[in-house]
Amino acid sequence: AQDRASQAAEQYAGRAEALQGTIRDWRRARFDAGEAQIALLLSNSRRLLGWVFATALVALVLIGPVSLMLLRSVVGRLAGIGEAMLRLARNDTSVAVPPADTQDEIADMARSVAVFKSNAITLLDQRERLTRLNAWLDIALNNMARGLSMFDARDRLVLCNATYQQMYAMPEPLTRQGTAIGEILAHRRALTTAVDVANARVSANLAEPGADELEEMIARRQRASVTQRMANGRIIAIEFEPLAEGGWVAVHQDVTAERQADERIARLARHDTLTGLVNRRVFNEEIERRAMLAGRAGFALISIDLDRFKEVNDTLGHPAGDALLQAVALRLAAVTRKTDLIARLGGDEFAIIEAEAETRADAAMLAARIIAAIGEPFAIAGETVSVGASVGIALVGGGETIAADVLLGQADLALYEAKAAGRGVARFFEPQLRDRAVARRQLEHDLSVALERGEFRLVYQPILSLAKGTISSCEALIRWQHPERGLVSPMDFIPLAESTGLIGAIGAWALETACRAALAWPDQVRVAVNLSGAQFDQRNVAADVVAALAATGLPPRRLELEVTETVMLSNSPATLEALHRLRDLGIAIALDDFGTGYASLSYLKSFPFDKLKIDQSFVRDLPNRTVSVAIVQAVTNLAHSLDMRAVAEGVETVEHLERVRAAGCDELQGYLFSRPVGEQEIVRVIADLNKSRDSLVAAAG
Ligand code: C2E
Ligand code: MG
Ligand code: MG
Repeated sequence: AQDRASQAAEQYAGRAEALQGTIRDWRRARFDAGEAQIALLLSNSRRLLGWVFATALVALVLIGPVSLMLLRSVVGRLAGIGEAMLRLARNDTSVAVPPADTQDEIADMARSVAVFKSNAITLLDQRERLTRLNAWLDIALNNMARGLSMFDARDRLVLCNATYQQMYAMPEPLTRQGTAIGEILAHRRALTTAVDVANARVSANLAEPGADELEEMIARRQRASVTQRMANGRIIAIEFEPLAEGGWVAVHQDVTAERQADERIARLARHDTLTGLVNRRVFNEEIERRAMLAGRAGFALISIDLDRFKEVNDTLGHPAGDALLQAVALRLAAVTRKTDLIARLGGDEFAIIEAEAETRADAAMLAARIIAAIGEPFAIAGETVSVGASVGIALVGGGETIAADVLLGQADLALYEAKAAGRGVARFFEPQLRDRAVARRQLEHDLSVALERGEFRLVYQPILSLAKGTISSCEALIRWQHPERGLVSPMDFIPLAESTGLIGAIGAWALETACRAALAWPDQVRVAVNLSGAQFDQRNVAADVVAALAATGLPPRRLELEVTETVMLSNSPATLEALHRLRDLGIAIALDDFGTGYASLSYLKSFPFDKLKIDQSFVRDLPNRTVSVAIVQAVTNLAHSLDMRAVAEGVETVEHLERVRAAGCDELQGYLFSRPVGEQEIVRVIADLNKSRDSLVAAAG
């Protein structure tokens, strides 16, 4: 078996070797065939390459210029478009867009770019306009007199202007966009003292104390306005306006000046500007209020009128008068309590409501304090000024109701009584005062018809010249023969005639009547007629005098006019002119009652009087009072030094006569020689006196 196996193996090995040889031969044959094929392929490809190259060369030579031409036109247009796009992107709208006159894609592109360019131009234009508008808005916003703030729906600051920032002294961080309103309000709260809500609709809901009205307003998103008073005194009005998108705008206006003006106007309407006291309107309202108050305590209404105020005003001028009124207001404030109300009702009229004046004594005490306080001298315009106060008091009992005008009327009646009683005193209202007032009104009425009813007449009192011992003139003195009252003294009705304006007509009548009467007297006897200051205010006195002279034919040299210092007080150029005109006509002008008023030397300087009549109060005192002796002497000397004659009034006794003669008086008037007598009688009195002159004068000697 082993041998058979090894034979078989040898057979196989021989066959394998033969097979290997066959395969090797086959491979070689394949390799050779491949080699030949590669060689063929190589030669073929080389040929092809050459051909391709040649073809390409031919193509290049043939296509090159055409493509170049084509390339140039397409690329050029594209570049133009690209450039245009690029410059447009840089906002250069001056760039020219390539023409789009063909119908290809590039032309489409060019057209698009043209549209793009026109859009860009519009856009740029709009942007420029917007920038300009923004700048304007900025300028406008920051130059607004009002502060403006705008917040978004979440109450964050959108914008605010410079005024707003200044108004609230806002630090820069708070003015930035997005700042929460809470932060801003916290800052502002430190500057704010109070908020008063002007809008009633809102205010009803903001009444609870402590609530921040502004925050409420913001939360409510309702149109409203509030006014805030800042700690620095500025008052700012805020208009709150909600916006549709949920935010809101607030306009802040500094209304300090307006408010102050309003307050001032309101104050003016209620107060007297000069003294700062309440005015008549407020005072009346207050009386009304108090008088109608049920169950309240009693109170007093005190009316005050300054004595001699007009004189101060007339002599020292209105600024001094004003200063005096202010000083009086201060003194009144000093003597009253806080609960009392002081008013200036006009002119020199003051009034006080004395609260809780239960008894007459309470009111009388205050009245006494007022009179004492006003009676003290005032230092006004570098001068010491003395005025006084007359006081009228009306009382209202506790719980008693009374109308304001009735009460004021009562106090006025009491005041009238106080003035009539000689000023510087207080009087209470009494029911009988009303009767007296009624009587006064009746008298006023009677006086108004007295002239046409012929109830006036003149009496005449002779004036003796000491040097000649004869009658130099007679003074005409008016009398009123009242149908029921009998003879009314001029002291009683002349003031009434002055205040009612009747003095003008009465004075004119007296002038003419006196001039006519004098015609019956010896030629050297003049007639002296009294003129009231009010007459000068109401009429053309010079014309009246000229008319009287013309009507009667009395020569001017026979007329004398007596004026008192009150005529000179007004110091009006018209009065002085009238006096000069009369004096130029040859009429003598005498200054009457010298020494009772101001006895101011300035009056003597301002007009060249012919006579000074020394008031009878000095003459009456002569024997007893050395002061009066000195005054009579001094006035006489003064008159002489100013080239005026000195006349002594009220010479009743021989002693008076001796004294005034010793003092050097030139003329005498008084009961010692004659009382004033009627028109018929005076002719005889003149004759008698002229006859007995020697004995009369001798009696004095
Ligand atoms: P008067 O101008 O100072 O006149 C002098 C006054 O003294 C007169 O008062 C006269 O009667 C009075 N009398 C004269 N001698 C004596 C005397 O010896 N003793 C006393 N005790 N009195 C004497 P009467 O007539 O009552 O006039 C008072 C004042 O009324 C006048 O003062 C004058 O200011 C004014 N008056 C009188 N008549 C007129 C007038 O026609 N017009 C104006 N405006 N006032 C007049
Ligand atoms: Mg007189
Ligand atoms: Mg007199």
